Amino acid sequence: MDLEHDRQSVMTKTSFNWSDRFSEIAQRTAPPQISWLMAQALETPGLISLAAGFVDQKSLPHKQIAEVMRQMLLDPHSGQAALQYGTTQGDLDLRTLLVDHLREEDAFHPDAQISPEHCIIGSGSQQILYLAAEALLNQDDIVLMEAPTYFVVLGVFQSRGARTVGIDTDKYGLVPEKLEQCLETLKIAGQLSRIKMLYLMSYSTNPLGVTLTQERRKAIFSILQRYKDDGFPILLVEDAAYKRLVFDDDSPVPIKSDDEDNDQILYTESFSKSLSPGFRLGFGIGPKSLIDKMTDLKGNHDFGSGNFAQHALKSVIQSGLFDRHLDIIKQIYHQKRDAALETLKQHFPADARILHPNGGLYIWITLPDHLDTGPQGEIFKAALEEKVLYVPGCLCYSPDRPESRRSSSIRLSYGMIDQEPLREACIRLGKALQRFVG
Ligand code: PMP
Repeated sequence: MDLEHDRQSVMTKTSFNWSDRFSEIAQRTAPPQISWLMAQALETPGLISLAAGFVDQKSLPHKQIAEVMRQMLLDPHSGQAALQYGTTQGDLDLRTLLVDHLREEDAFHPDAQISPEHCIIGSGSQQILYLAAEALLNQDDIVLMEAPTYFVVLGVFQSRGARTVGIDTDKYGLVPEKLEQCLETLKIAGQLSRIKMLYLMSYSTNPLGVTLTQERRKAIFSILQRYKDDGFPILLVEDAAYKRLVFDDDSPVPIKSDDEDNDQILYTESFSKSLSPGFRLGFGIGPKSLIDKMTDLKGNHDFGSGNFAQHALKSVIQSGLFDRHLDIIKQIYHQKRDAALETLKQHFPADARILHPNGGLYIWITLPDHLDTGPQGEIFKAALEEKVLYVPGCLCYSPDRPESRRSSSIRLSYGMIDQEPLREACIRLGKALQRFVG
């Protein structure tokens, strides 16, 4: 009898809620906005999602990768090495390959003393960004960023308790004069020493799809140099996640190439969009003191990113498959971009401003001011009714910006879906918008 009673009380008792015991960082960490968007997609049958930054599914080179991995695994030396623990900083041969590759592309100043010890491999470039934030940011420190920016990174900085400050962009990327103005304002407020980093995308940005011009790269770097010389060092986190997906081949060299002393810029890249997000690999190259600290922190996270994936990636690069794959997907994304732009032009209101991305996976559209594209607004609702999902522009702004509360922009991703559903989704979105324009 007693046993039965106990069992029942166990079953009816509500389980203890640990939220009262959460750490400060856990309390500041909200679920990523993208998970809410994904839930919408799952709850609406027949919905076409233009929200997720997934890659083209059909071109993922599974057979070619299987062949490369078969060879790697059947060789006892490389196969057994791949199945062993690796180092926290990442496989030395892979780091050497990456540094050499970038050196060949003039990504570094010719005199820059950059070697594999300045490189760390991460579980996606997301982890590199997280480790940099963990290494540098205390509560109330300031991170400068583009407005709009890569929205997932906002959560990283906010969970550290940092204040993010969005700086104006235009169709050429971050505006250096606005950076200068922002720094002046923070100087007057006595907050210069709180600024720890400028997070900046340098190629086919997410969400704008623009590549920062050569002049602006120089201007931004020289502003930061000046502040460093005045005793206010601000780390430039140069996120080049879409470097390999710029359509024309004459894109400028990374800002990192100006960092002759390797003490001002943490450069990051990812293999997610350029090869396969399933590998979950990215890397960072930066000042030795920072890379060493990020490695210490990474040791606490995971002792190193998957060694197996790193060995596989090394084999894929060495076999030439990576470069061949890039040629293929650049063409595919180029065609998808054109298909999307053509359809949008036909079906969107004439006064919608559509930025033409020069690479990457995203199209940024700004509708007339009176239209609110936010997740609680009528347009988002109408889009769901038409069974199409977009990323509301407001999510891409740092909370200090008014656009984070109300925006008339949207981000569309043309990465994953095929051309036909892509056109269909653009038509559906156009139809949803027609309800709100004269
Ligand atoms: N930076 C940017 C600009 C991104 O868009 C993304 C992914 N969408 C990342 C970094 C992180 O990607 P990953 O962790 O897959 O390398």
